[in-house]
Amino acid sequence: MIPFDNSYARLPEHFHAFVSPAQVPDPKLIRLNGALAEDLGLDLEWLSSPAGLAMLAGNAMPEGAEPLAQAYAGHQFGGWAPQLGDGRAILLGEIIKKDGQRRDIQLKGSGRTPFSRGGDGKAAIGPVLREYILSEAMHALGVPTTRALAAVSTGEIVRREEPLPGAILTRVASSHIRVGTFQYFYAQNDVAALKTLADHVIARHYPDAAITDEPYAVFLEGVVAAQAKLIAQWMHLGFIHGVMNTDNTTVSGETIDYGPCAFMDTFHPDKVFSSIDRQGRYAWSNQPVIGHWNLLRLAETLLPLISPDAEAARSKAESAIERFSPIFRDHYLAGYRRKLGISGQDDAQEDFIKRTLGILAEQQVDYTLFFRHLTKVATGSTNDTLKGLFDDPAVYQSWLDDWSQREIDVTVMQQANPILIPRNHRVEQAIRFAQDGDFKPFHRLVDALQQPFSEQPAHADLEEAPTSSEEVRATFCGT
Ligand code: AMP
Ligand code: MG
Repeated sequence: MIPFDNSYARLPEHFHAFVSPAQVPDPKLIRLNGALAEDLGLDLEWLSSPAGLAMLAGNAMPEGAEPLAQAYAGHQFGGWAPQLGDGRAILLGEIIKKDGQRRDIQLKGSGRTPFSRGGDGKAAIGPVLREYILSEAMHALGVPTTRALAAVSTGEIVRREEPLPGAILTRVASSHIRVGTFQYFYAQNDVAALKTLADHVIARHYPDAAITDEPYAVFLEGVVAAQAKLIAQWMHLGFIHGVMNTDNTTVSGETIDYGPCAFMDTFHPDKVFSSIDRQGRYAWSNQPVIGHWNLLRLAETLLPLISPDAEAARSKAESAIERFSPIFRDHYLAGYRRKLGISGQDDAQEDFIKRTLGILAEQQVDYTLFFRHLTKVATGSTNDTLKGLFDDPAVYQSWLDDWSQREIDVTVMQQANPILIPRNHRVEQAIRFAQDGDFKPFHRLVDALQQPFSEQPAHADLEEAPTSSEEVRATFCGT
C-alpha cells in the first residue's frame, strides 16, 4: 500500500543494519498528519486502517519496506563518538512524491537495533509529542525540518527516571544523512564509502553539483549555504536547538532531532535550556559558531574526494567553508530587517538591529511578543502592550522614536513575525495531559500552530508568555 522506492538499502552493507521493528502490545493512533500524508501521495484511508496502524506501530511491515538502522558517528558536545547510529530509529524505506522529491519514512522509538548500545530503542510519549508539535510548528513557520506523519501509543511502559507510556513517532525527512554519517567512514579511512555516500547525497540533494567539474566542493558549498540559512532562521524565531552535535546536523539543511530544544520566552543571547549543556556550547548566539565548526568536520571528510592533491583539496574546502560567515550574516540581517519592517542594507541598520537586541536583553522583553506587538503598532494599533513588555518605559519610548523615523513595511513584518510559537510551558502542559490520557491540549496546540502568522482569537491564550511559575527554565532529552 506504500510505493516504496528504497535507495539507502541498496548502499553497501556496512552503511546500515537490516532490523525489524519490535512488536508492541496495544497500538493506538494518537494523531495522523493528513495534510502531510496527502503531500506524500499516501493513501490516508489505508494509513488510518488497522493495517496502516500496524505499520505506524512497527507491528507489520507492508510490502516493499526494508527496515534498517543507519550507521553514523558524531561529535557530541565536541567529544568524538566513533559509533552512534540509529539506536532508537528504524528507516522503513523511501517514497518518491509526485514532484519527484524523495522522502524517508522512519519509525522513531520502535525498539533495539545493533546501534542501541545500552538503550532500549524505545521512546516515551513526551519526546514523541514534543517532536510532533515542534517539527510541525517549524514547518508552518517556514523553516526546513523533518516532519511528523504520525504519533502512536504502544500500550507499553518505558522505563526512564519514572515509568512512562511508550510511543512511536513516524518521521519523514528528505533524508536522515548527517555530518556524522560522513564522519563514520572518514574515521575508518574508508574513502570508497565516502565517495559512495557523497555521490548518493549529491544525486539526492545537490543534483546541480553533479554537472560541475568539482562536484564534491560544490556539494560542500551547498551544505554550507543550507546550514547558514537554517541557523539564521532558527535565530529569528528565538529557537535554540540544544544539541547541535554533528550527528544532529543534516546535509540536506533540515532541522533534525528535536531533543531539549526550546523557543525563548524572555530574550537573552546566552540563553540555554538543555540541562546537559552546562557550558552554554549551544546557546542561542553560539549557534552559528557551532554550525561553522560542524561544517569544518564535514569538509575534513570530503578532502580526499575534492582533489587528490592535498594542498588543492584543502584550499578548495577552505574557500567553501569561508562562505559560511557572509551567507549567515546576510540571512541573519535580512531576517531582522524584515522583522523590524525596515529596508535598506546600510551599516546603520546593522547597528540598529544590534542595539534592538541589546535592549530586549537588558529590558528582559519577551522575544515573540515584542515583534508580534511591534507589528500591531505598525498597523496603527495602540501600543500599551508593547510598552508593558519593557521594564523601563523611557527606554521603550526612545527606542520607538528611533524606529518610527524609518519607513516601515507592515506586510513584510506580518509575514516575518509569528503570532504563535510552541511555547515551552504549553508544550509541557500538552505532554502532562497526554501522559494522563487527555490529548486535547496536544491536538489544540498542533492545530493552532498550523497557522502561526494568522490572528486566531480562539487561541489568543497560546500567545501569552508564561507566568514566572509556569516558565520552563530547563529542558531534558528525555530519551
Ligand atoms: P540524540 O542525542 O537523542 O540524537 O541521540 C544520540 C544517540 O543515542 C543516537 O545514536 C541515538 O540513536 C541513541 N539513543 C538515544 N536514545 C536511545 C534509546 N532509548 N535507545 C537506544 N539508543 C538511543
Ligand atoms: Mg540524534
